[in-house]
Amino acid sequence: MSHDHSTYRRIVLANRPHGEPTLQDFRLEAVPVPVPADGQLLLRTLYLSLDPYMRNLMDEAGTSYASAVPVGAPMVGGTVSRVEVSKHPDFRAGDLVLGSSGWQEYALADAQELTPLGDLAQPSLALSGLGMPAFTAYVGLLDIGAPKPGETVVVAAATGAVGATVGQIAKLKGARVVGIAGGADKCAYAVSELGFDACLDRRDPRLAEQLAAACPDGIDVYFENVGGAVFDAVLPLLNIGARVPVCGFIAHYNDKASAGPDRLPAATAAILQKRIRMQGFIILDHYATRFDAFRRDMGAWIADGSVKVREDVVTGLEHAPEAFIGLLQGRNFGKLVIRIAHD
Ligand code: NDP
Repeated sequence: MSHDHSTYRRIVLANRPHGEPTLQDFRLEAVPVPVPADGQLLLRTLYLSLDPYMRNLMDEAGTSYASAVPVGAPMVGGTVSRVEVSKHPDFRAGDLVLGSSGWQEYALADAQELTPLGDLAQPSLALSGLGMPAFTAYVGLLDIGAPKPGETVVVAAATGAVGATVGQIAKLKGARVVGIAGGADKCAYAVSELGFDACLDRRDPRLAEQLAAACPDGIDVYFENVGGAVFDAVLPLLNIGARVPVCGFIAHYNDKASAGPDRLPAATAAILQKRIRMQGFIILDHYATRFDAFRRDMGAWIADGSVKVREDVVTGLEHAPEAFIGLLQGRNFGKLVIRIAHD
């Protein structure tokens, strides 16, 4: 699709998916570049974060923390942008900002929706290692999982944006970390680069036995990212007093209805008998109280190399739908970010 400087490209939700999203559920369109009113800013998107929660916002019901994307409206998402035009005294043209412009090349914003990023050398870090998924890992692991030295922590989607951070922070806290990831390459990376003690392939039919062998002292913290077969393998291994931060269950985001036999009775029986502390959390609730500590600790850990950040950068807005479908299938390797424009 060609476009001139008076129009920009965006990707809208074309249809609500049934099960796995397809390319037909998205539409690339060109629309006029808007003009900011007094107090507003016009932003040019540099980087767009693609995250699993977006799948939930494609469904009519939306979520407890955000309403569904209306059909025909731009897909939502966190972004790093340059201010193109500022009609607000706190920002100037050229400033680098964190916002939520969504899947589009330009967007209007109000000043209070934006976080200034100063001269952050690697702007995409504001969406990855210093961004929402890493913050999710920090709060979920430290505040709910609370691993102690020598305890065993298990996390799946282990090389992804959240999981890789969970495992590395758990190692810094002295825990033994077992990851679960999709395939040999991801598992090798988790052990050799991220320092996990072991990593297992989630698609191996012997996952349950392998996990039992990798966790001879049981599991003290299970950071729940995926649900499904991984949860089934973890449940019998949870120790008395285990903690389970419930962060996500990506294995079920495409489910049309609750799949398979009812596993709830077994889960609740284990929670009761083993006095497991299982707590859901939505990271949006924690910015006011915990973001400053995260920013300080994570900034130091990244700077001294004790936490590594891997980004999977795809160039071009037009590739966002395909990349997002891939995220839900495990094709990303690291935090998935779309580069929308060169800076
Ligand atoms: P990732 O970067 O980890 O990408 C998603 C990964 O999920 C895939 O790469 C794949 O990893 C794994 N996956 C996909 N399908 C399945 C499946 N059927 N079974 C098991 N694993 C699967 O994503 P994030 O780190 O951004 O998100 C991880 C989880 O954290 C998600 O559930 C997300 O919704 C949740 N989350 C929750 C937040 C909150 O506030 N509670 C905030 C942010 C994220 P692999 O190939 O290695 O299996």
